Amino acid sequence: MSFPALVEPAAELTIDEVRRYSRHLIIPDVGMTGQKRLKNAKVLVIGAGGLGSPALLYLAAAGVGTLGIAEFDTVDESNLQRQVIHGVSDIDKSKALSAKESIAEINPYVEVVLHEERLDNDNVMSVFEGYDLIIDGTDNFATRYMVNDAAYFLKIPYVWGSIYRFDGQASVFAPSLGEDLPCYRCLYPEPPPPGMVPSCAEGGVLGVLCASIGSIQVNEAIKLLTGIGEPIAGKLMIYDALEMEYRKLKVRKDPNCALCGENATVTGLIDYDAFCGAVSDEAAEAAVGSTISVVQLEHMLKERDNGERDFVLVDVREPNEAEINHIPGAVLIPKGEFLNGNALSQLPSDKQIVMHCKSGVRSAETLAIVKGAGYSDAVHVGGGVVAWVSQIDPSQPTY
Ligand SMILES: [Zn+2]
Repeated sequence: MSFPALVEPAAELTIDEVRRYSRHLIIPDVGMTGQKRLKNAKVLVIGAGGLGSPALLYLAAAGVGTLGIAEFDTVDESNLQRQVIHGVSDIDKSKALSAKESIAEINPYVEVVLHEERLDNDNVMSVFEGYDLIIDGTDNFATRYMVNDAAYFLKIPYVWGSIYRFDGQASVFAPSLGEDLPCYRCLYPEPPPPGMVPSCAEGGVLGVLCASIGSIQVNEAIKLLTGIGEPIAGKLMIYDALEMEYRKLKVRKDPNCALCGENATVTGLIDYDAFCGAVSDEAAEAAVGSTISVVQLEHMLKERDNGERDFVLVDVREPNEAEINHIPGAVLIPKGEFLNGNALSQLPSDKQIVMHCKSGVRSAETLAIVKGAGYSDAVHVGGGVVAWVSQIDPSQPTY
């Protein structure tokens, strides 16, 4: 599907600009009008890291007139393996400032606007406002959902990308450009349970993968800004660097989407840390390799009933929550009892400990405490009782 250009053309290109952009100008589809649209365009790039680095470099070189950079971090030596907009002399410098200096070196005609603050519910709408297009290069789920929701409310299309080890994904989310176009929540209604998906800092990323996905994002941005080609709105690009394979899947709008569906429940910005189960570093570390699914738990409970194994299932929620729904056979020991140390005396020392809560956030935290106390085979249930009710026992209510 093609779309009308997002940006009106600027009045004129100067003689210097005509010389600079001549390789664009002689492409019939871009031409003078397309380049003038780029000159007039305001694009916000979230993150000047793995994806933001190549994206900013190519957007600047292409002649996008105004580039916003939302980034609050500083350059670390370990960034230089992939964040090619920064150099050795930038270590410990603000990434936003480092990126601005690199852009000035490539194309002094680009105006750079820095947003050197952590995006949150208080500032995201005002930061986004006024941009024609957003490129999301963030690496965490809480920010991704916030970007999606804020862009939806402001009707700003955005190009999303994600990278991990040898795998990358990209798409364009632009419900404002067509009634049947999906948002990020249509593709991923729920964030993964905490601890299930390691970050690039934990799992690593092939540096050049950033260029593969970042350049797809810029490619789509240029198409949207100038109205050429068919942007991948409603499609998901999946790239496998080891197999050297690109696949394109259709992404349908979900009529039940919490944000863009018919009966939307997300009508304003929400608590994204709570929604995504942001957990402490200790909890995230404890959960890696020690998270079981509700299907595994169901199997384990059957084995316990048959006398084939023994373990203690602990519900770490509050009593009022356990009254709403529960996993049969669980004993209730609220998280506070773990924090004050009382819970440990209630746990048998010779049995495996399995913990669950509502969604897997609190149980990841108690898991860290229990493992720290020597229960090395302790596990927690990813997705918690919410996953249990949706996948195993839909007869129970949720809350
Ligand atoms: Zn949606």
